[in-house]
Amino acid sequence: MIRFCLQCLKTKKACICEWITPITTDVELIILQHPTEAKRPLGTAKILSLSLANCRTFIGENFTEHNELNQLLAQDDYLHQVLFLDNESKAINGQKIDSDQKQRIILLDGTWKKAYKMWQLSTNLHGLPKVHLDTELSGNYRVRKAPKDNALSTAEAGYHVLSQLDLDGSIVEDGDKFDSILIAFDNMIEFHISQMPEGVYQKNYRSE
Ligand SMILES: [Zn+2]
Repeated sequence: MIRFCLQCLKTKKACICEWITPITTDVELIILQHPTEAKRPLGTAKILSLSLANCRTFIGENFTEHNELNQLLAQDDYLHQVLFLDNESKAINGQKIDSDQKQRIILLDGTWKKAYKMWQLSTNLHGLPKVHLDTELSGNYRVRKAPKDNALSTAEAGYHVLSQLDLDGSIVEDGDKFDSILIAFDNMIEFHISQMPEGVYQKNYRSE
């Protein structure tokens, strides 16, 4: 018997597929996922890759020689930017770009420390502009201890990137086009909290 869902690769009990809504976007996402992140049951990048037609995931730590990624980066009709907060990064909101140019945003999926290492090792990313989300945004990643209170999960970061950059991504009749990403994320977190033995969540993960 197969214990894993073949689509989301989570256990059948923890399958997130029922919460996934397909979304089309102008802005494309490239998720560079640390190998340790790929194995975590609570990895949230899968929500993005299952929801978005324009989303690729590559697994590794040093992407300098990664052929597929380098082929994408070589396409100069795209503006490529890395979501990475440092003292050179620019706020992603309010950015004006040439509207004819397509955009790809690269997300580093890993703990802050691992993402930093990935960025350091992957020298092919160093020439790209860096952008960051509003540092006031706070995440709802209650089942993982974050180094900073406002650390966002990858799914939440992807949601904010798309909400701010996707050209027709503002308001549609059924509400925000990207809300289903957050709904899937919340459902996934709720499920995992419900699976924890009583007291474990309160003892280890509650931030309040
Ligand atoms: Zn599934």
